[in-house]
Amino acid sequence: MTNIELLCAAARDFYRFGWMPGTAGNLSVRSEDGESCLVSISGRHKGRLVAADFVNVPIAADDFSAIEPRPSAETAVHNAIYRRVADAGAVLHAHCPYVALLSHRTSSITLHDYENIKGLGVWDRDAVEVPVVPNHREIPRLADAVGARIDAGVEVPGVFVAAHGLYAWGRDVDEAQRHIESFEYLCRLAWEERA
Ligand SMILES: [Zn+2]
Repeated sequence: MTNIELLCAAARDFYRFGWMPGTAGNLSVRSEDGESCLVSISGRHKGRLVAADFVNVPIAADDFSAIEPRPSAETAVHNAIYRRVADAGAVLHAHCPYVALLSHRTSSITLHDYENIKGLGVWDRDAVEVPVVPNHREIPRLADAVGARIDAGVEVPGVFVAAHGLYAWGRDVDEAQRHIESFEYLCRLAWEERA
């Protein structure tokens, strides 16, 4: 499968899981030259994405107003991650319900050592801290907040957005998808444990 086919397949999976309802969520993959990314177009239904629903955007860009078709409103967050995480080859954003529930009114979440913590690439610790940023409505502020938490040091391949969802990255689409699924699974266990 090509990278775009993998992104479309991930979107279909997440749509079926209820993590990308309607047009929610966005997906991208870094281009081979490393200087740009292919990101999903704004407003497309995530259960029916096709290759034509992606547009190339320079990773250095902050202003997307001249790019047609219009990339996802949250492209600035994808770029903020690609600029900081050198080995991020794909970035996925989904509205996972247990992530949204757990991240409400907090700035950090501790995920404990259930087996699936290994799905985040964590093999040597009993718990990891996941940064949570406020759910800023202005996307440049959201991108700055995500970037600042990465700059401060993250021990997991993702950042949560309070009461909203998460951004997760990986070296490729498959790894980024595995990280989204592992985060949501661990958050579900943490939520059930709390109950
Ligand atoms: Zn969102």
